[in-house]
Amino acid sequence: MPCSPDGPESSRKLLMRPECLNSLFRPLASLKGAGKTTAPLMAKLVGGEKAVDLLWHLPSGVVDRRFRPKVAEAPPGALVTLQVVVEVHQAPAPNAPSPYRVLCRDETGFVTLVWFRGRGDMRGLLPVGAERLVSGKVEFFDGVPQIVHPTVVPLDQADTLCRVEPVYPLSAGVTNKALGRLITQTLDTAPDLPEWLDAPLKAREGWPDWRAAVRAVHAPETLQDLDPTTSARRRLAFDELLAGQLALMLVRNAARERPGRVLAPTGRLRAPTLAAVGFALTGAQTRSLAEIDADLTNPSRMLRLLQGDVGSGKTVVALLAMLAAVENGAQAALMVPTELLARQHLETLRGPCAAAGVSVVLLTGRDKGRAREALLARIAEGSAQIVLGTHALFQDDVVFHDLAVAVIDEQHRFGVQQRLALAAKGRAVDVLVMTATPIPRTLTLTQYGDMDVSRLDEKPPGRQPPDTRLVSLERLGELVAAVGRAVAGGTKVYWVCPLVAESETSDLAAVEARHAVLNEALGGRVGLIHGKLKGPERDTVMEAFAGDGLDVLVATTVIEVGVNVPAATVMIVEHAERFGLAQLHQLRGRIGRGGGRATCLLAYASPLGEVARQRLEILRATDDGFLIAEEDLRLRGGGEVLGTRQSGLPGFRLSDPLLVGDLLATARADAQRLVAMDPGLQGPRGNALRTLLYLFERDAAVKTLRSG
Ligand code: ADP
Ligand code: MG
Repeated sequence: MPCSPDGPESSRKLLMRPECLNSLFRPLASLKGAGKTTAPLMAKLVGGEKAVDLLWHLPSGVVDRRFRPKVAEAPPGALVTLQVVVEVHQAPAPNAPSPYRVLCRDETGFVTLVWFRGRGDMRGLLPVGAERLVSGKVEFFDGVPQIVHPTVVPLDQADTLCRVEPVYPLSAGVTNKALGRLITQTLDTAPDLPEWLDAPLKAREGWPDWRAAVRAVHAPETLQDLDPTTSARRRLAFDELLAGQLALMLVRNAARERPGRVLAPTGRLRAPTLAAVGFALTGAQTRSLAEIDADLTNPSRMLRLLQGDVGSGKTVVALLAMLAAVENGAQAALMVPTELLARQHLETLRGPCAAAGVSVVLLTGRDKGRAREALLARIAEGSAQIVLGTHALFQDDVVFHDLAVAVIDEQHRFGVQQRLALAAKGRAVDVLVMTATPIPRTLTLTQYGDMDVSRLDEKPPGRQPPDTRLVSLERLGELVAAVGRAVAGGTKVYWVCPLVAESETSDLAAVEARHAVLNEALGGRVGLIHGKLKGPERDTVMEAFAGDGLDVLVATTVIEVGVNVPAATVMIVEHAERFGLAQLHQLRGRIGRGGGRATCLLAYASPLGEVARQRLEILRATDDGFLIAEEDLRLRGGGEVLGTRQSGLPGFRLSDPLLVGDLLATARADAQRLVAMDPGLQGPRGNALRTLLYLFERDAAVKTLRSG
């Protein structure tokens, strides 16, 4: 059932998901065999709640059940499928710890089937005297072959059993069998989709159609079939990259084409503000600001990424950009990912803004009731000129009088949709996004291909890179003593513990235990901060650490983003080997923001592998975030660089742009050509390409076509 091409009818139709994708976009919970408890577990595993998300979950192994020897010929350790007759059941006494055994044979010998865990009566599955196919790994026990927990089917199901089965990455509560069944169901109803690929490219690469490709990747026969270089896998990877690049370019074009407004900075507010901050801009800041000013002055819209290492001074650049809006009688907003960071920004901006007579307000999810209404009123009437906030900023009831500049800090914490939602709150909003994660070029293309980029590649003067050393965790006692000495000398200390997920209670328990030990050793002036704490509790701890209340802060990576405590010049990172390099670099950026040389001790669990040591050595050797990012990428792959924990790149499930660099360049060139020739995607490939964008949920990009 191929997608019917859209006629020239209403453009509304163009902006709706094509019907041919319906079966792929139904909830995976609606599939047969997706139980109430398993469906959410599966959704979590595959990273989405729709049937199509199952298809993006690619097998990582194969089980070959085609080998069908006689019992006497079954080699130890081999995976075999045997055709046997059931002889005797040996059921254990109720509650006895012994396993359930079933003795079977063929004409060449005997084999025992074994189940360890409590099974009911197995006579239904294996009636005495019946013939069955049993499959599993052969082991020898007292000279007799046995198979533990075999798969058992009647003879007439040989076709479904004796084949190569894909093996999927699994998580607790999800079995390969259950997952495989849902994937098969989805594949069975998967539609033919219109071909969006460039025909010559497809022919040159020898790629299959989309439907054939998804079926192929889920039907591997050998380990080679799992390789990312198979034509089916490459095709799907290319599809994903093409969707990504096309979406980025459409969004970029739409932003450029829609008229912006001219916000020529007058300097009326900038001058007193700069005087109040009390330092001169670095060369990099001046250059970035000039780039921003050119965008603001230009009648098209700004969409610019300001990349700069921790401590490179992005905040003041953001402030000056926002002041351009205020100088022109409009408002500006600064959105940050956490409450803590929002509060710190308020502290930083309050003084300089007051000096220029500019009003700044803070809106977070914590503002409730009348206080919130009062804030919203000030934002709506325009008396709040600069609005700082968290996700609370793009809630529906937040209405600006005249928003002209939106700044988004720590861009990687927000999605494109959120960025658009904020920008939609004003008229022709100029957008500046900032990231403290230095991003290598390949990644800039995949993640930020829609933006212009400014780089703060120079730190404010007087900064010394932290003295970074590796220490074995076996010397924990010495570490604690060193912290004691540092505290006695008047420094504050961060003690960072890894947390796989804030929800992992075992990890949390470890952090709490560490806190207890340190607090005991250091006289009760040790605080604890982690993601499970509520906002106000976190702020209380953080304020105590920034002030006089606490000397040491035991923290999970919640301190990662933006937080500033100048008196903290020592950091211990426990289990440093578990962190990404870029993440460690960001953490390390928290210390040494005052004067003097900071110390960062990377405590690792022994023994440290060779690659792990090399990685940590890089941090010792350099403080250049861009360099560290490139090295991290080389050693570990992209996910780490962007601060996410999954392997591969965020937003990419079929392609790892690092492995398929050639495809990325091709996809980019193809997308560029397409957008130049057919910006509204109306031409012959247009319909198919829109289907592609929906398939990869780049809906936001399709919406931009309205104006195209
Ligand atoms: P980040 O890029 O990490 O957001 P910040 O904007 O917080 O960095 O700046 C880090 C620190 O450097 C702040 O204390 C800020 O006041 C200071 N700073 C920024 N620019 C300069 C400069 N040109 N000269 C001296 N100090 C600066
Ligand atoms: Mg910052």
